[in-house]
Amino acid sequence: MGKRKKSSRKPAAAARIKVPLDTSFTCLFCHHDNSVTVRIDKKEGIAQLVCRVCDQRYQSKVTHLTEPIDIYSEWIDAADEAQRMRESSTARRSAASSSRPAAPARSADVDSDDE
Ligand SMILES: [Zn+2]
Repeated sequence: MGKRKKSSRKPAAAARIKVPLDTSFTCLFCHHDNSVTVRIDKKEGIAQLVCRVCDQRYQSKVTHLTEPIDIYSEWIDAADEAQRMRESSTARRSAASSSRPAAPARSADVDSDDE
């Protein structure tokens, strides 16, 4: 008896693996991890983003400074904006259906949109 339990095992000292630039990301649409890959073709000056799960695609122009993460965030912005436009257009429509005569302007409600 009297076996000493050694619990001094270190988790293999976080080996410094050289990580290549991240080129796979989480998909905005299907939410799969690393399903989105970005390919940058600097010769063509084009980047292509593809989700291999739900087949979302996005294409953008690149410079020699562009990195995959830039394309990814661009994609997020684009998707975000598309969604916002969709939402605002439906919101606008429902607001227009109850067309009120120029209500006393609230301070933060500046809508200079005269169509
Ligand atoms: Zn996807």
